[in-house]
Amino acid sequence: SLTGTGLHLAFGSNRVLRGVDVHVDAGKTVTVIGPSGSGKSTLLRVLNRLHEPDAGDVLLDDRSVLRDNPDQLRQRIGMVFQHFNLFPHRTVADNIALGPRKLKKMSKDAARQVALDQLELVGLTNKADSRPGNLSGGQQQRVAIARALAMEPQIMFFDEATSALDPELVKGVLALMSDLAKGGMTMVVVTHEMGFARSVSDTVVFMDHGAVVESGVPEQLFDNPETPRLQSFLSEVL
Ligand code: ATP
Ligand code: MG
Repeated sequence: SLTGTGLHLAFGSNRVLRGVDVHVDAGKTVTVIGPSGSGKSTLLRVLNRLHEPDAGDVLLDDRSVLRDNPDQLRQRIGMVFQHFNLFPHRTVADNIALGPRKLKKMSKDAARQVALDQLELVGLTNKADSRPGNLSGGQQQRVAIARALAMEPQIMFFDEATSALDPELVKGVLALMSDLAKGGMTMVVVTHEMGFARSVSDTVVFMDHGAVVESGVPEQLFDNPETPRLQSFLSEVL
């Protein structure tokens, strides 16, 4: 499980996180929704320690990780962003094998096997020796997911993983994320895809102005939003 408690973070006078509590149990999916600028990406970055919080704690399996080496935590959390950041001059398989080779010190052959296994999982075995530039955006994003999975993370973070994709490519990536969730992966997903949030999440967290305004099971948040702020957000996005 992963827990953030009482997280505060300011950039100068901009108080971006104002006491955020968030928790994901092992094997569950938490979706974070909210307006642009509400602090969703920043929350993920604090949870994987790309930013240090001004106050609060981050716990992995109920143990604080704030005094550990941040690299240790980041190896246990797979990240998938809007922009996939694949190395254009390396093959798809090499992109995936790089992490296991460098960080897990795997042999070239073992890392290639890991890459091929992950490509099979995301349905792209036939692209192993292509360059990323020759793949569609949706295929590249599936490679980025395979690359994260190749490190055998304990948790996966997704930050607007489908926002940069052409509409017809979104479905395939969401289906893959949904399969991962059903397969028991622990996930924290920032998304504007309300259909996904409703159908896949165990818990939905609605953030506004750096705070969690409402959280609960999807039916509760989507069908019976309690606060005017969530009501008006939903009326804009649904
Ligand atoms: P979006 O839906 O547009 O991605 P978000 O909810 O992810 O928005 P964040 O990216 O977390 O929002 O940004 C929250 C606030 O923090 C914004 O006001 C932003 O300008 C500010 N911010 C984010 N990162 C930094 C940074 N590295 N330095 C200074 N300010 C930042
Ligand atoms: Mg963001």
